[in-house]
Amino acid sequence: MAYYQSKPVSGRHFLQIPGPSNVPDRVLRAMDNPTMDHRGPDFGKFGKGLLEKIKAVFQTTSPVVIYPASGTGAWEAALTNTLSPGDRVLMVETGWFAHLWRELAERLSIRPELLGTDWRRGADPAAIEARLREDKAHEIKAVCVVHNETSTGATSRVDEVRRAIDAAGHPALLLVDTISSLGSMDFKHDAWGVDVTISGSQKGLMLPPGLSFNAISAKALKAAETAKLPRSYWDWRPMLAANATGYFPSTPATNLLYGLDAAVDMLVEEGLDNVFARHDRFAEATRRAVRQWGLEIQCEEPRHYSSVLTAVRLPEGHSANALRATILEKHNMSLGNGLGQLNDRVFRIGHLGDFGDLQLVGTLGGVEMGLKAAGVPYKPGGVQAAMDYLGGNA
Ligand SMILES: *Cc1c(COP(=O)(O)O)cnc(C)c1O
Repeated sequence: MAYYQSKPVSGRHFLQIPGPSNVPDRVLRAMDNPTMDHRGPDFGKFGKGLLEKIKAVFQTTSPVVIYPASGTGAWEAALTNTLSPGDRVLMVETGWFAHLWRELAERLSIRPELLGTDWRRGADPAAIEARLREDKAHEIKAVCVVHNETSTGATSRVDEVRRAIDAAGHPALLLVDTISSLGSMDFKHDAWGVDVTISGSQKGLMLPPGLSFNAISAKALKAAETAKLPRSYWDWRPMLAANATGYFPSTPATNLLYGLDAAVDMLVEEGLDNVFARHDRFAEATRRAVRQWGLEIQCEEPRHYSSVLTAVRLPEGHSANALRATILEKHNMSLGNGLGQLNDRVFRIGHLGDFGDLQLVGTLGGVEMGLKAAGVPYKPGGVQAAMDYLGGNA
């Protein structure tokens, strides 16, 4: 019996929420090493190497800073380093995480302006362009989008958002939350002209929770020189100064950094393009299962489908939370709950991180058995549809 389980269950727990994701054994082994002196000579070498190699995952040559914090901390860091009290920012409310980011901005005395969505698709670049064109005085200092909206399973096309900002000839910074996409879906900090990329350890990067990241463009670094929001822990300047020699201004999460080192090696060894293709394939197999069951996918725009997770709507009058509880009880699998307005309306299947074909077939098998046990109307054969696709596209 694993220490985190309240009752004896044999076999591994299936952690199929869209983050935290499954941690590869190689990463667990890497963390299972003695904590080292973070001021000692060996740490600088390790730190410098890691801070350099992590850039590949962001597809950037710019600096990446690492905080011992959850993703929320990196949201705050991105805002406090680049903005001043009262600054206007344009945010797209694609779902619950975008909503939480906006609330955080408001508490920091930033003035978010919202472009709404129906939570069934990603950001609309045309709407962003139109709003920026109106802003002749350039009062909007940043555009904030969530790349993979983990609450809905819809992604925003960051390349198109960049083009929209450029088409409007607007100087706003582009801040992008990749907390659940980095390391699972293609994301190019440099090529897409992103100014601050925000990320976290516990999703695509296949680590336990506890690290978060900012990748910082030259333009964002410049903005940090004049930004007036109070910042201390999140201040990039002392962090970058210490990072130059591989050290950190305060105690880093040393053992999580060992894990990060191993996780980045694994992603690079597999090849980022292969990692992305693997996630695309799992997502397609999952959608085929969902359609066969006769259930609805929350994301209505195929160009915005997430390869990290699939959010599935339940028929009117059926409880997604009851279904999840049944599956946990009977089959020892955790699925993601519906967040905000989607609470009890959807459940979310995570297919990210350290994950393979048979884990996906097991996951979908658990869902299909659960649908029957929970009395949700469905058509059998979803797992078969997924297997047909996986088998034909090995
Ligand atoms: C998980 C998540 C967050 C929140 O990150 P924490 O690590 O829980 O602070 C923010 N945005 C997105 C898109 C997420 O998936």
